[in-house]
Amino acid sequence: MFLIGLSGSGKSTVGPLLARQLALPFVDLDATIARTAGKSIPEIFRDEGEATFRELERAALARICARPASVVATGGGLPVDARNREAMRRAGDVIWLDAPISTLVERLSRAEDHGRPLLQDGAAEGLARLERDRRSLYAEVGARVGADCAPTEVVDRILVALRDGGASDPGGEATVNYPPASVVVRTPSQTYPIYVGDGLLERAAGLLRASGVDAPLHVVVDARVDALHGARLRAGLEGIRFTWHSIAGGEERKTLESVSCLYDALLAERPERGHVIVAFGGGVIGDLVGFVAATILRGVRFVQIPTTVLAQVDSSVGGKVGFDHPRGKNLIGAFHQPSLVLADREVLTTLPPREVAAGWAEVVKIAVVQDAAFFDEIERTSEKLRALEPHATVTAIRKAVQLKARLVEEDERDVTGARAILNYGHTIGHALEAATGYETLLHGEAVAIGMAAAAHIATTMGLHPPDATERQRQLLLGLGLPQSCEFAERADVHAALGLDKKRVGSRLAWILPAGLGRGRVTSDVPDELVERAIDLVTRPARLAQS
Ligand code: NAD
Ligand code: MG
Repeated sequence: MFLIGLSGSGKSTVGPLLARQLALPFVDLDATIARTAGKSIPEIFRDEGEATFRELERAALARICARPASVVATGGGLPVDARNREAMRRAGDVIWLDAPISTLVERLSRAEDHGRPLLQDGAAEGLARLERDRRSLYAEVGARVGADCAPTEVVDRILVALRDGGASDPGGEATVNYPPASVVVRTPSQTYPIYVGDGLLERAAGLLRASGVDAPLHVVVDARVDALHGARLRAGLEGIRFTWHSIAGGEERKTLESVSCLYDALLAERPERGHVIVAFGGGVIGDLVGFVAATILRGVRFVQIPTTVLAQVDSSVGGKVGFDHPRGKNLIGAFHQPSLVLADREVLTTLPPREVAAGWAEVVKIAVVQDAAFFDEIERTSEKLRALEPHATVTAIRKAVQLKARLVEEDERDVTGARAILNYGHTIGHALEAATGYETLLHGEAVAIGMAAAAHIATTMGLHPPDATERQRQLLLGLGLPQSCEFAERADVHAALGLDKKRVGSRLAWILPAGLGRGRVTSDVPDELVERAIDLVTRPARLAQS
């Protein structure tokens, strides 16, 4: 695939990003020429003249065309030669990155020593002239993609153009024809759009098709969700072939047995590898069905339509799928990114208030450790969030998804520690869930209490300002979340944390806030602070008196 366009249109910036998405090698043609010649492009121009450079360029292009597929950034003048245009056309797709002159000049003036000899003086006039001369040549061979935006956005546009066959239509307008997604997640294994908004269920068929998901579907839906919103999705899927499977939700169903039942039900439909499985429900359904999609027929594509706040902001993003084992939650699983996520705010309005609040806890969590301005925003709009007011809710969900997506992109498989920051509040949170038998507290509630514990530890250690801890407390209470759990027995929390006399604290991983908007991972927390934090969240009354 060849990227053509004027200097500054972003070919060598966009190229490597695009290559990564397509899992192809990236080749910068100018760099290849310079390497072969043993001198820089300006030096070739100076010592040997433009004609020689053009010969070298044509030869380099011919070599690339003979090699296996790659993404190639070309010099701005390369398509001037009709032989080059013909060579590219024969060898692959040609994408013309087109941006206004003002943008090119602006970009080039920022780039240091760009080494483009044709641009040295009178850059703006020179570029304008080149543009006039070359525009029709670019259009003759390449599909036009607007490049007047961030490189990652350009990559998205190209991917859509390729998918829609726009790139095989030189001179055609290879514009994005799906509505701009709220967030695009780019991981080594998959790039996918996440839509957040109202009325998405009704538009499901169009959004699926626009995202390249145009195959028979097997929809697995939480029975409760089916009763409340099933009809809307069915109507929205009109025109697409689908099967429909309603199953009981709830954490107690997140088991191997449910996975097995799903295999039976789906295999009875004779699915093919090109089919797509859709998870329509909360985090339990998303995790279970995602695991089934990751494994059935050795893995088929899947789409998430999350229906709880928690599932929209957290579990549907990032590709962690799996189920519980008697020895613990989420012990069996896989990484399997969805192909598309539709987070429709309107389905949330039938959630019990406690479930809504529990979802917001995960949003506060990510704000505290990632984005202070977002924390301010949640504070300002907390009443509206509780009421699921459309604008505030969609804005907050979108932002939370964006923040999580960035961490997932950095650390898809949770190995570098970037993703670990999402476990803020979860060290004590998980222990409280275990200590109360997973029945008293919702996960988000346990996390809200866990955040109180972690913030307390961080403040005592001098990492986190006391007023930030207090603001977090007020915000969580205001959202309807608990800050302590008197039902939890101290000893049980202790046991659930896996603490024994010798090793108190030392092997626990803590995510501690370090000023609003920043978090750090550490296992270096003094024993007595851990004990005090457990006291704080299990016996708040006594602590308040002391
Ligand atoms: P859930 O799926 O059990 O849903 C909660 C309850 O709400 C259920 O009773 C469900 O039937 C009901 N419900 C769902 N949507 C509804 C709607 N629109 N209206 C009315 N009722 C509705 O739980 P959850 O909180 O969404 O998800 C929790 C699960 O997510 C846990 O199993 C957890 O391990 C998992 N999780 C996974 C990840 C991940 O990265 N994969 C991240 C966080 C949590
Ligand atoms: Mg969580």
